[in-house]
Amino acid sequence: MSTTIPAYHPVSAPDYLPRKQMRELQTARLKRMVERAYTVELYRNRMNEKGVTPADIQSIDDISKLPFTMKNDLRDTYPYGLFASPMNEIVRLHASSGTTGKPIVVAYTKEDLDVWDEVVARALVGYGVTEKDIVQVAYGYGLFTGGLGLHGGASRLGCTVVPISGGNTERQIMLMRDFNVTCCGCTPSYFVHIIDKALQMGVNMRDLPIKFGAFGAEPWSEEVRAYIEEQAGIKAFNIYGLSEICGPGVGAECCFQDGMHIFEDHFYPEIIDPATGEVLPDGTEGELVLSTLSKDAMPMLRYRTRDITTIDVEPCKCGRTIRRIRPIRRRSDDMLIIRGVNVFPSQIETGILRVDGASPHFQIVLETGADGLDRIEVKVEATPDALDDTVASVEQFKKSIAQSISQIIGLSVKITLVQPYTIARSEGKMNRVVDNRKK
Ligand code: AMP
Ligand code: ZN
Repeated sequence: MSTTIPAYHPVSAPDYLPRKQMRELQTARLKRMVERAYTVELYRNRMNEKGVTPADIQSIDDISKLPFTMKNDLRDTYPYGLFASPMNEIVRLHASSGTTGKPIVVAYTKEDLDVWDEVVARALVGYGVTEKDIVQVAYGYGLFTGGLGLHGGASRLGCTVVPISGGNTERQIMLMRDFNVTCCGCTPSYFVHIIDKALQMGVNMRDLPIKFGAFGAEPWSEEVRAYIEEQAGIKAFNIYGLSEICGPGVGAECCFQDGMHIFEDHFYPEIIDPATGEVLPDGTEGELVLSTLSKDAMPMLRYRTRDITTIDVEPCKCGRTIRRIRPIRRRSDDMLIIRGVNVFPSQIETGILRVDGASPHFQIVLETGADGLDRIEVKVEATPDALDDTVASVEQFKKSIAQSISQIIGLSVKITLVQPYTIARSEGKMNRVVDNRKK
């Protein structure tokens, strides 16, 4: 199918800046950002340790002189230690619980919220969403940035917003149908659940007017994209972000769905070797490092995201000049080391969905065998069709899934088919791994 380029919208003007002008803008903004950051004790100390002062930052290329910031820095300065604006200028706080320890807190001034709305609006424009669209925001509202982030961007674009938040899936489907919703935002795993529930309710998502999905907050594979697009009859677009930088809207796909454009007039991307911290040239895979270029309340200098990707400098067919990153399939900290082999949950997902008729609902269970070696069991939900089949064909089905996964990860896995709807669903980010191995 050919892709039509959506109509130009003025909010997206920075997406098309000539590179030279973009670099000048980035330089001017970085200089200002570093001066602001220097008023914060942690940044000032770090820069002093490295012998760098704001005066040393004369061009965007000087960014590599600056120290990195890590998640622990946000924890250590909890709650307000990284703020560069007085509290009376801070109009919003968000927090991310992460998996361990104290939450991290992030802050926004009025201007920061304006930038956030703008970048999310630019993301939606890239998909082809317009003010005529009705956008159901099924990301969680609250301290998590997903709900209010998409809400702000869709409102800025002038869409009709349905702020339903996550959960109550039957109601999601009822409203989607009754309100003629044309765009839905949530985690891809939650949308897969919505599709399932609709089927159970006898609703064919393909009959509904919904045509766009804004999916992010967790890694997802091309196979899940194909599944969603096929089952729901929509175009499923990726949106990327993280609380530390602003929330969703750091980057997003355009109509070509070929990598996510980074809104680099506000967020400067670099790729580093996670082991050495060395900056890698564009086109090389490594850890994404992001710096905010306009965030007043809480500047982030060279934040190490742990997300693994590549910066793509090839011009995009859509005409945007801002660079793209490849979809993020893994984080350096969601890597499982199984019998010494590095395995990412997204690889297992790809393996499962390459088999015709396999369900995207799965769980990875790791155990230590009697011989002391790791065992991987992948529980995959059977589809009602699979259960009707003969024992021999069920065995063959399991074998196909096991082989498909082994081909990708190079390890043998045990597949267990479990009853439909028995693997816990998530309304937000999905955790697919149960690690029962003896440490
Ligand atoms: P949080 O700050 O809690 O929203 O989590 C941010 C993290 O979610 C990022 O660092 C990524 O690891 C992940 N994430 C967000 N959006 C995406 C996406 N589109 N694809 C893959 N991972 C994502
Ligand atoms: Zn593009």
